[in-house]
Amino acid sequence: MTVLAVADHRRGDLRDVSFELLTAGRELADAAGTDLHAAVVSGDTESFAEDLNREGVDHVHAVEHGEEFNHDVYAQAVEALADDLDAEFVLVPNSVNGLDYAPAVATRTGRTYVSDAIDLAYDGALEVTREMYGSKVETTVEVTDGPFVVSIRGAEWPAAEGVGDAEVSTFDVDVDEDAVGSTVKGFEEVGGGDVDIADANFLVSIGRGIEEEENLELVEALAETTGATLSSSRPIVDNGWLPKNRQVGQSGKQVTPDVYLAIGISGAVQHVAGMKGADTIIAINTDPNAPIYDIADYGIVGDLFDVVPALIEEFGGEPP
Ligand code: FAD
Repeated sequence: MTVLAVADHRRGDLRDVSFELLTAGRELADAAGTDLHAAVVSGDTESFAEDLNREGVDHVHAVEHGEEFNHDVYAQAVEALADDLDAEFVLVPNSVNGLDYAPAVATRTGRTYVSDAIDLAYDGALEVTREMYGSKVETTVEVTDGPFVVSIRGAEWPAAEGVGDAEVSTFDVDVDEDAVGSTVKGFEEVGGGDVDIADANFLVSIGRGIEEEENLELVEALAETTGATLSSSRPIVDNGWLPKNRQVGQSGKQVTPDVYLAIGISGAVQHVAGMKGADTIIAINTDPNAPIYDIADYGIVGDLFDVVPALIEEFGGEPP
């Protein structure tokens, strides 16, 4: 019985969730009294494997095959590795990639699949906590019929740190190329360029309180003056004022910055689901009863059109 955590990478970089996965995996391995194996498939496996060798990891396996994510290659590679290790728990990120191959691995290997875990416990049976009803409630379910494939939501565990003393090795998989039905031909960036709000330390996030697209220059000036990255609630993206990759929330991105400054955002559950992991939450809202104040560490009850220019000046900038 082992725990296998499969890393996620994109365009040459390991994604943060890979290291959060290692923390979840270590906790599970401790509870089950077993080893934690990490794996990376494709890409620059040598450097990825080195980076995955964090404290608490016992073995790192590198599967060399192509550069980018491929559903069929991942499904075959993870299946082979999980079977070889007799993995009781196969942990994958609840990311676009992870969700793509996790059910296939579960089906092919006869494992029980549980998605979108935000907490895990093991005491002979696996307990998985998930959100339901649009993040309004959390439920903990006991899953008895192992072995398991579990996809883990990013930002729910701290990232594993330090340098470990794992055994690092390559794992050869005889990929059946006839069963590989798709090939990545290239990438096209959607608007917003290379910005990944999930990696930002300081987010200035704007909501419907901004009223008009032309007013966005105000928060852009604040972001620029303070060195923050601009993100938003969903209505701003639905209006086409910012690209989709700036949206925080249940149907957007999960973010865990040091500071999250929510401006003119009410704090709907679907928004909070994406940013509640921020270290410090600051809200600017005219409504003292806005739900965002339930989770904010600091709040300024006031009109953003007064408060934001004052903040820009305070930080040495010039309001537009
Ligand atoms: P509002 O709720 O309209 O809030 C605007 C706030 O601005 C109010 O609190 C108001 O008091 C304040 N305000 C107004 N004027 C000013 C001013 N001058 N100065 C200061 N404050 C002011 N939403 C997301 O954000 N992300 C998601 O990923 C997401 N996914 C969803 C998925 C589903 C399935 C569904 C059903 C909904 C989802 N939503 C999501 C939408 C969500 O329910 C809310 O509608 C949305 O978050 C509201 O955005 P908002 O806070 O910007 O707007």
